[in-house]
Amino acid sequence: MSDAAIDFLSLPEADLTDDGGRPLTARICATHDVAGAVAAAVRANWAVMPAGGLTSAIGSFDYRPDSVAGFGGVVAIRPKGALAAEVIGPAAPLDGLLSHQVSIDADRGLVSAGAGLTFAQVNAALAEHAGPTARLLIDLTSIGSAFVGGVVATGGMGPLRLRPSRSLEAVCVADGGPLRVLTGDDVALVEGMQGWTGMVAAARFRYCRVPASEFGLVLPVQGSDVDTVAGLLAYLRPWTRLDQPEAGGRIGGEGGDTVLNGIELVSRDSLEAFIRHAEEPARSKAEGLLQSCEYAGADWLACLTGWSELSIDDVLMTLLDPETETIGGVGIDFGVGFSSGAEMETFRAIREGAPDLARTRARVVQPGRLKPWSTSTDINMVLPADSSAIVAVLEAYADYRIAIKALSRELAGTVEVELSAYGHLSPAGLDPHHRVTLFAAEGAEAALAAARLAVAANKRTLIHDLLFAAQRHGLAVTGGEKGAPSLVEIARAAGGESRLSDALKTAFRRTRDAVMAAPAHFSFRAPAELRGE
Ligand SMILES: Cc1cc2nc3c(=O)[nH]c(=O)nc-3n(C[C@H](O)[C@H](O)[C@H](O)COP(=O)(O)OP(=O)(O)OC[C@H]3O[C@@H](n4cnc5c(N)ncnc54)[C@H](O)[C@@H]3O)c2cc1C
Repeated sequence: MSDAAIDFLSLPEADLTDDGGRPLTARICATHDVAGAVAAAVRANWAVMPAGGLTSAIGSFDYRPDSVAGFGGVVAIRPKGALAAEVIGPAAPLDGLLSHQVSIDADRGLVSAGAGLTFAQVNAALAEHAGPTARLLIDLTSIGSAFVGGVVATGGMGPLRLRPSRSLEAVCVADGGPLRVLTGDDVALVEGMQGWTGMVAAARFRYCRVPASEFGLVLPVQGSDVDTVAGLLAYLRPWTRLDQPEAGGRIGGEGGDTVLNGIELVSRDSLEAFIRHAEEPARSKAEGLLQSCEYAGADWLACLTGWSELSIDDVLMTLLDPETETIGGVGIDFGVGFSSGAEMETFRAIREGAPDLARTRARVVQPGRLKPWSTSTDINMVLPADSSAIVAVLEAYADYRIAIKALSRELAGTVEVELSAYGHLSPAGLDPHHRVTLFAAEGAEAALAAARLAVAANKRTLIHDLLFAAQRHGLAVTGGEKGAPSLVEIARAAGGESRLSDALKTAFRRTRDAVMAAPAHFSFRAPAELRGE
């Protein structure tokens, strides 16, 4: 790795915002040599804000200008990617990998990747060099845009609800001292830490083999969403129980040749909003799905994805309960299947359309209006087989929706309240994101601020209800997709760290210890309670 000095003051300004949408003052340094840039920054006494694919708000919680007072400045170091990964020999050491390089050790079922690649690029390199069924079990819906380093740093998880650590063999971390290669439990010192403990330069993963084809199935969910969805999840459990194999092995589960790798929820409202903005061919297909909702009298769509050796028709037959001729109580008459590569792209465009649109609307400032304010729920719960426990969790979300809709009616004319629900329903992690976005005209600052407080109070109630349901039904709350920030949000809503379950308390303590032990060059932007303040 190079050890060259960098003139940080001559670097361009970074165009970054914090989680509240406020601009961050920082320079940007894009590099293939993450370790070299970090070493140079720490040597020059610059604070480091790692940047990845920038698909999340940069994690700068409680960031105050005085927290960088002792530094020369803040530099956002961003690993440089490439159009395609550069594949180098299998013996390449992890701490020698550049940000756009991949090294595949097919004998051991391992792939090492530089921090600037996307997982779609890593999977493409695996397909070319280890065979088309070789795959990483990391499946964020931002798989084509989030970077390896960013995903490890957020601890992100998609429809499969598996954290990166479930596949991680080792992580190379740069923090200004000698490069560290973390393995085993030590991976927790960086996973989900948002770069507050150092910068991920490269990571080595165990890959596996999956059944040959991928399918999607969209089912309109009729009747009471709470009871029907709970019944569906309890019924589908065998196909969602995924036995993770040894490195290089084939995944399997109770569902034999068919594995469900995601059950995602899209509300009818979100689908309608998507259709208003979508382009072909996704729009026509989405209109077809809306029609299915109408015929079925459904307000929700369950979007199932999976891998199978079977055709989509045979998958349907496999999932069907012959007695009720339903899939866990959900009729299949208006279901729509997707199987080929192009169809799966359309399927994903529709499934991700709702969250994408909600995020975009939350970011864009319309003429004559204030900057929208937005908040999304993110609390991941592992479910038992018992459907009454699932009902208790889903009821808490239903109550939240009722409260937000009531607020929307109350504020009509001053603040517009938009609620979009989408997200993950796997028994391995129930986390149906509910995003609330507030819009108000310029001059209505006070009304917007009051509405924010009301939404935040309702969200706290939801988190309370979920923690209570977890306690009563023996469910595990495992934090959220945003790693440490999700943990902090849950602790704040619970009324402090001491009110958390034992497992979350341990996670909180471990997170704080790691942040407090990290160089201030990285920990300067962590929330106050993690810095021991
Ligand atoms: C369309 C879309 C779909 C999404 N779907 C999902 C989903 O299914 N599941 C999910 O969990 N999230 C999802 N997200 C959120 C986001 O993609 C994830 O949080 C992702 O892990 C962020 O990766 P990134 O490379 O973009 O990181 P960034 O957004 O650039 O950074 C995120 C945080 O990680 C830190 N960081 C970045 N790179 C490094 C590094 N090399 N070392 C140390 N710290 C670093 C940053 O400082 C920041 O705090 C989605 C976002 C979008 C826009």
